[in-house]
Amino acid sequence: MSFAGGCMCGAVRFRLDAEPLRVGWCHCTSCRRHTGAPAAVFVDCLKKDVTFTKGRPAFFASSQKVRRGFCAACGSTLSFEHDDDRDEIHLHVGAFDRADLFAPNTEATHTNEKLPWFPQG
Ligand SMILES: [Zn+2]
Ligand SMILES: [Zn+2]
Repeated sequence: MSFAGGCMCGAVRFRLDAEPLRVGWCHCTSCRRHTGAPAAVFVDCLKKDVTFTKGRPAFFASSQKVRRGFCAACGSTLSFEHDDDRDEIHLHVGAFDRADLFAPNTEATHTNEKLPWFPQG
């Protein structure tokens, strides 16, 4: 199976060639800032299963061990990578062409930072 995705302007495109490891909500404040959304949903993938087929993300190091990927042309939020999980890349669900295929299937993380009015997760 294969799942394609990319940024809003099309400068960055990627393809996932396997089922993701897991899909889950993140309620941390950093994800909120990076996405502008009340919470993020990550599609956690093995790096070896993900190919950037067009362009590459630009990165912002939001902490010493974390780099967050985005499109330098249009600003779309794309990815999260942590030094402690070097084999993994976490792609934002909204970057996939078929986000509808990736319903969250694991525990939400950082629920202690969840917005009090958030409806679920
Ligand atoms: Zn773009
Ligand atoms: Zn987060």
